[in-house]
Amino acid sequence: MENKNREPLILEPVIKENVWGGSRLVTEFHYRESGEGLGECWGISAHPHGDCRIAEGQYKGKTLSELYREHRELFGNLKNPEFPLLVKIIDAKEKLSIQVHPDDAYARIHENGSLGKTECWYVMDCPEGAELVIGHNAKTRQELADLVHAGKYEELIRRIPVRKGDFVQIVPGTIHAITEGLLILETQQSSDITYRVYDYGRLVDGKPRQIHVEQSIEVTNVPDESVEKGLVHAQGLSENELHELVSCDFYRVWKLNVNGQCEIGQDYPFLNLSVIEGEGSLNGRKIRRGDHMILPAGYGRMSFQGNMECILSTAVEKQD
Ligand code: ZN
Repeated sequence: MENKNREPLILEPVIKENVWGGSRLVTEFHYRESGEGLGECWGISAHPHGDCRIAEGQYKGKTLSELYREHRELFGNLKNPEFPLLVKIIDAKEKLSIQVHPDDAYARIHENGSLGKTECWYVMDCPEGAELVIGHNAKTRQELADLVHAGKYEELIRRIPVRKGDFVQIVPGTIHAITEGLLILETQQSSDITYRVYDYGRLVDGKPRQIHVEQSIEVTNVPDESVEKGLVHAQGLSENELHELVSCDFYRVWKLNVNGQCEIGQDYPFLNLSVIEGEGSLNGRKIRRGDHMILPAGYGRMSFQGNMECILSTAVEKQD
């Protein structure tokens, strides 16, 4: 079968405006000439709310969802009906609302057959002393409901200190929020189902955003084990090899620090690759911070050169 030397699928990111977004996607990346209030770069996405186009090569102009439908062989003939992952860079100038996501089973019943959402964050940058909201302190569901109904969110939520290079897996049912000043690479199931737990009493366009009180109480995991199970300190990893950050039912995610030169096999149905720091080349093609691409099935060996940090991921095939 002729599947050697398949070209990388270079993606055109979709940039999103958000009330909490900043300008780092303009000042630190090559996405836009100007702009404010830009919160998210959907770097690898086939989601209907932001379907990336292929930027060059024989599939130039096609959306990722089209390519996934028409050329499943590029994705190792993965059985999942939709391209299952979404990779974003998030610039939180302001803190985001505190939220929780349902799992597949709950979303299927209550959200029109949608997928649930498992996600993970790699902290690309953060201020000194930064804390993320991950998990909660309630011991029982009754205590959770009591704290929510009484509006005692500061008692409820758990804050954990983080620094650049930390990685957090957020399973469905985990209360979580990105805080101000963080720059994050998020890898997630391709889903948008979010229940807002608390928005710090903020007004957007003069009114508070909707809070999903009952859904939040229903889907939140009690007791909470998120921090014990989900946090990885990924600083100081050895260079020129893949380091697995997480492996779950939906995806595997790796960090790669290239220094000089290395060769790694592309042995997966496909590999998402985002360059989060530095620059270099992949099989002779220049790549740099902020580039997002998919290395298809049959891509062969990946020969990296340069000085850069990358996050890679692949999907775990849906079993039915
Ligand atoms: Zn989330």
